[in-house]
Amino acid sequence: MAKDGWTRPAREALRPDRGFRLADLDPSSTPGWKGDSEDAEARLAEVGLELAELQERLFAQSRTGGSRSVLLVLQGMDTSGKGGIVRHVIGYVEPQGVTHRAFGVPTEQERAHHYLWRIGQALPEPGRIGVFDRSHYEDVLVVRVHDLVPPTVWGARYEEINDFEKDVVDSGTTVVKVALVISPDEQRARLRERLDREDKRWKYKPGDLDERVLWPRYTEAYQAVFDRTNTDRAPWFVIPADRKWYARLAVAELLTQALRDLDPRWPPVTFDVEAEKDRLDAQVL
Ligand code: AMP
Ligand code: MG
Repeated sequence: MAKDGWTRPAREALRPDRGFRLADLDPSSTPGWKGDSEDAEARLAEVGLELAELQERLFAQSRTGGSRSVLLVLQGMDTSGKGGIVRHVIGYVEPQGVTHRAFGVPTEQERAHHYLWRIGQALPEPGRIGVFDRSHYEDVLVVRVHDLVPPTVWGARYEEINDFEKDVVDSGTTVVKVALVISPDEQRARLRERLDREDKRWKYKPGDLDERVLWPRYTEAYQAVFDRTNTDRAPWFVIPADRKWYARLAVAELLTQALRDLDPRWPPVTFDVEAEKDRLDAQVL
């Protein structure tokens, strides 16, 4: 089945259009994918290998002056599967090709700076795939929901973020923004599993339940993000994520497509390959 499981390319099926309403999205749906979970896993294994090779080409290019990189921004409520994306999708790419950064509550040092400062510090070097587990969008999500700054302050941030992302893109970084959307029921089940399983308990915080009751306000805040920062330059993709296998495949497709678009080539060598082979053959140690 593999590729044929997609009836529409992921980047078309998952891009919110004008009039998109997050509240109307079915988190258990699988837009554009007609296969089952096994088909999706088979396809992920294929795309993962392609992703790894494309990143290696991009890295090789950067060694000879290439300036391109890719940034994957992952947003989503607690338990939406951001960590799983890192393990199961980014895991295909070799570690030195990836810069991963998780953004939590700003540290004292970070709070002394503009909110975009820590983001600018974490952008990927040429040749790398950067992964943000949460991002500058927290500054218009958790910050908005909890009134951590006045509305006039967070209200000005959407345009500021668009301008910031324009600079990032202009400097050679392709930006792929992904929001993983789960249902409240699915979150309940996943939080319950975190409580039940000793190997997952470390991820649980009692405060997660206090965030959970703010679900409608988060939905509103995410809606504003999609309405105001879904630019063609740095597009959002909204991914139904109740089915982990679908979300992982979808992100793999989006990221791989971003690299395909860059079409990274193995760099030409600056030496005479045949002459080097002759020299190697002639060496006696
Ligand atoms: P986790 O991703 O589960 O480790 O949690 C990280 C926490 O940091 C989440 O509750 C975020 O909402 C919070 N966080 C991330 N960025 C910010 C920010 N700029 N201001 C306040 N809280 C933040
Ligand atoms: Mg958490």
